[in-house]
This record gives sequence, C-alpha cells and structure tokens, in this order.
Amino acid sequence: MSSTQSHPTCPDDGFPLVELNGKYVCSAEHADARIGGRRIVTTTIRNGYLYLEFDNQTSIPLTCPCCGGQLHLRQISAEQLGQLLAGRTVEGFRHGQWVSHDQSGAKHPIFAIQFSGEEDVNTRTMQVHLDSVRNISET
Ligand SMILES: [Zn+2]
Ligand SMILES: [Zn+2]
Repeated sequence: MSSTQSHPTCPDDGFPLVELNGKYVCSAEHADARIGGRRIVTTTIRNGYLYLEFDNQTSIPLTCPCCGGQLHLRQISAEQLGQLLAGRTVEGFRHGQWVSHDQSGAKHPIFAIQFSGEEDVNTRTMQVHLDSVRNISET
C-alpha cells in the first residue's frame, strides 16, 4: 500500500470510479442517474448511519469522508443533520481528495453532494466517502 497510489478516475469528468458488481463505473454518473435532482422526502438512521430517502424510492447512506464509517467529524448529531437536509434537492456533485492529518499523509478520493438551500454553497455541500455512492439503493 502506498499513500501516493492513484485511484482510477473517469476520463470524461475526473470523478473517481467505483467498483460495482465487478465493474468500474463513474461515481458521478452513477449517483446522478439515481439521485441527481431528487428531493429528500425523509431521513432515517439505521445501524448508526444517516440515510437520505429520496422521492424516487432511492436512498443513500452518508458515510464519513475520512474512513467510510459513521459520520464523526461534524459537531451536530446525525438526527440534527437529517433534519437539516430533509426537503432539499440534490443540485450536483463534486469530487476531491481526503488527506489524512496524521503523519501517514494518506490520501484517497472523496465524493461530495451539493444540496439546494440558502446557505453558502460550501455549507450545503457534504463530503462523503465513496462507500456512500456504492451503497445507493432502491428502497
Ligand atoms: Zn464520469
Ligand atoms: Zn472518519
């Protein structure tokens, strides 16, 4: 394992690829086809993960951008975050890189979802781990 190992990205838009059923697919295209432009009708917490449930019976769990686990970097609880996001629509996606703050300096690509709202665009953009994209599912 090397911290400089590069992750495969989509030649069209630079988004990281995710492996699904043994095939690499573009994370942005995968997410856009399922939740792009969709409205969050409700949010639920299952096994400690906050799930956004959309108006097309699709859901996505929010995972921590650093480790893919439950959200633990935010000052607010999963319940509060769910209340904050309910009713919003997905405006778009961004990609970036997570860089560890420990001495390893490990890096990995992350995915971000931009939600509708009045706040500054960075405030309503949520970074998640690529595991969130892998776990988009129909409910
Ligand atoms: Zn792409
Ligand atoms: Zn984490």
